[in-house]
Amino acid sequence: MSKDKKLIIANWKLNPESLKDAKKLFVDIKKVASRTQKVQTVICSPSVYIAELSKMYSGHRLEVGAQDVFWENKGKHTGELSPTALKSVGAKYVIIGHSERRALGESNTDVNKKVAAALKAGLNVVLCIGESKRDSQALYLKFLREELESALSGVPKNHLKNLIITYEPLWAIGKSADDAVSSHQMHEMYLFIRKILTEIYTKNIAFNVPIIYGGSAEPDNVKELLDSGEIDGFLVGHSSLKASQFNEILKITNSI
Ligand code: PEP
Repeated sequence: MSKDKKLIIANWKLNPESLKDAKKLFVDIKKVASRTQKVQTVICSPSVYIAELSKMYSGHRLEVGAQDVFWENKGKHTGELSPTALKSVGAKYVIIGHSERRALGESNTDVNKKVAAALKAGLNVVLCIGESKRDSQALYLKFLREELESALSGVPKNHLKNLIITYEPLWAIGKSADDAVSSHQMHEMYLFIRKILTEIYTKNIAFNVPIIYGGSAEPDNVKELLDSGEIDGFLVGHSSLKASQFNEILKITNSI
């Protein structure tokens, strides 16, 4: 993971509905992603597509990742996917702690075990944290601190080079650019996350962890957020399912 590139990570969620459609979307994105030198593009597809998609591009500007992972590498864990198995089929990244997984019962302890196991296996971890709503007493900051501190509990500093933090407030997910975080709010969160990382580790380590934003990132708001929000990239949900929109985000990011 190169620190001088912006990260644009697609979260395809449970889309597209077939391998054929996934390949088509990947090819359409590859046309631009393979040419945007200043951007590291990552497609986090449903896990069943990873093996095929990872064979469709041999460079490094476009990588493939998963949307979740288990903390064990083998054993009696029906239905789970291990870090080493994902790596072996070409996954380089994995999203962990997405709010849609937390809503299904994933706890901070689960997130911590997943983060530790995935980093240990050498995957790049896209750790999601985010509050469901804001309150006037700023209790959401306490909530975010807990999410971050517990996710990184016991994670050794030499594994942090493969960590990316995504600030993804639930109130901004799946809406439109107008409902996303403002660049001012994003800048505050950027400083807040850096501060916590510095408290847990050191300033040097904290400043090398990319912090990206997720929640209705669209071609209409990415420039402003990159210019004034001081962020290292985006986790993109609905706008990653239309190649034209996603490619526009890649081009705008590459031009900054
Ligand atoms: C997401 O849920 O990870 C996400 C970024 O979604 P959207 O861009 O649709 O808000």
